[in-house]
Amino acid sequence: MPASKKDIRNKKNKALEAAGLRAPLTQSGVPVKPPKQAYVCTVCKISLTMPQQIKVHTEAKHSGKTVQECFPGAPTA
Ligand SMILES: [Zn+2]
Repeated sequence: MPASKKDIRNKKNKALEAAGLRAPLTQSGVPVKPPKQAYVCTVCKISLTMPQQIKVHTEAKHSGKTVQECFPGAPTA
């Protein structure tokens, strides 16, 4: 009997699991995305994740400050 698609997929998943590379799945079988790194503004304590938001926030709310002053360690995009 030829291997079914399911068998092939299971075999692949087993190999990935053995290598520690398989993404954890939710109960519905959807891969869990790693949580996004959030950066907190040192001035107003708002929490942002997108480099673009961080840049816009700094320019709009704290003109005169740099992105690194408001969000130390944040990527500057
Ligand atoms: Zn701020």
